[in-house]
Amino acid sequence: MKTTQSWIETLQTQGIHSVFTQFTDMHGVAKGKLVPLQNLDEWVHVGAGFAGPSIWGTGLPRYGSRSEYYGRVQPETLRPLPFMPGIAHAVCDGYAGGESLNTCSRQLLRKHVERLKAKGWTLWVGIEPEFFLLNKDAKGQWQAADAEDALSKPSYDFKSIHRNLGFLEDMRAALTSLGFELQQIDHEDACGQYEINYKFDDALAAADRYMLFKMTAHAIAQKHGAVFSAMAKPFANAPGSGLHFHLSITDADGRPVFADENDSLGLSDTGHRFAAGLLHHADALSALSAPTVNSYKRLASSASASGTTWSPVWKAYGDNNRTCVVRTVAGRLEWRLPDPSCNVYVAIAGALVAGLHGIESNMPVPAPCDEDLYERLAQGLPMPEQLPRDLFVALQALAKDVWLREQLGEAFCDQFLQLKRAEWDSYAQHISPWELAQYASQY
Ligand code: GLU
Ligand code: MG
Ligand code: MG
Repeated sequence: MKTTQSWIETLQTQGIHSVFTQFTDMHGVAKGKLVPLQNLDEWVHVGAGFAGPSIWGTGLPRYGSRSEYYGRVQPETLRPLPFMPGIAHAVCDGYAGGESLNTCSRQLLRKHVERLKAKGWTLWVGIEPEFFLLNKDAKGQWQAADAEDALSKPSYDFKSIHRNLGFLEDMRAALTSLGFELQQIDHEDACGQYEINYKFDDALAAADRYMLFKMTAHAIAQKHGAVFSAMAKPFANAPGSGLHFHLSITDADGRPVFADENDSLGLSDTGHRFAAGLLHHADALSALSAPTVNSYKRLASSASASGTTWSPVWKAYGDNNRTCVVRTVAGRLEWRLPDPSCNVYVAIAGALVAGLHGIESNMPVPAPCDEDLYERLAQGLPMPEQLPRDLFVALQALAKDVWLREQLGEAFCDQFLQLKRAEWDSYAQHISPWELAQYASQY
């Protein structure tokens, strides 16, 4: 293993003087501070200190030895930041009172990844970030950064790619320099909506990478006078953004555990059971993967102006079926529930423990779905069970899912529920223009 001194020397030759010690709060937002590179040994072994109660979801007290949150730098994650010259990025794990912090989402995922390692298995996650590039119009209203193009079906449109090429090109260059292996950049189904795909990674590295992706996108959008938005559904009449996870597991010999080419869905029995676990815990997983009030505006069956929204609505799985919450593709599972406003560590940890529950308890596997569920809905036919319709229902499901809560830890779930119930309560106290228009003079 490389010593901290050799890390310092390598980074100094690259012109680095400071480290941004980044951790992720419970909302999934990147936080951190700038510290001198030369004291790296301290950041690695003690950690960069933060006031614990100033960070969402730590549950740390306001005073005493456990009030300080220490972000310990994981040196293998050190990388020069192309958009902050002289500064390297480092991912931190949360500690308090000298111990691993059970409300730190990265520590949570690490724990479950290590548990999986004890079985000889590795979880691989390919994350597909969809997002909006926004700005404000003359009246100060949010609008798509390519609103001028006013396209009715903007998927893959050249004009919109060209209009924001400066942003997309800077993203390509920055992500490449950060070690992302880019696969494609496209314009998605709504005005101002893009998707950038890059190679999958092991679960922890994939989550770290998505955080770095968001930081890069925020920085580059700022440079172009725009805003990177990970909001699930900014516009009522357009599709929202998903953050699909392509999930697969390999065994100790590197063999894919989910794949079986003789199966009609290309899945092994283990793969089917993992899917069953996801479907079984889908209500509680909604709280973890679609964690904002707005997330549920995305998970709705209404068609968009441009056709369908392609968002998952029903608890079903099917071969290359984008109308189900689990789509099977080439021996892996695409988990379509998460949206980009989730805490990616929490959403992956939740999916992993739910899927393992399916495997370990030999959970009954529902019949795969081989039809277009939007079409079925349009025909008025009976539908599979629907995902929660709002955050409140999802939070209730998480509170009731004893098995999942035990796996994720009561301390973590209590903090998560407290934070998200406060968000719901704040929303519920709000009277929207729609309500006034609908009810003010009606009854
Ligand atoms: N935007 C869709 C969602 O909300 C997904 C579209 C796609 O499958 O690429 O999940
Ligand atoms: Mg997409
Ligand atoms: Mg996808």
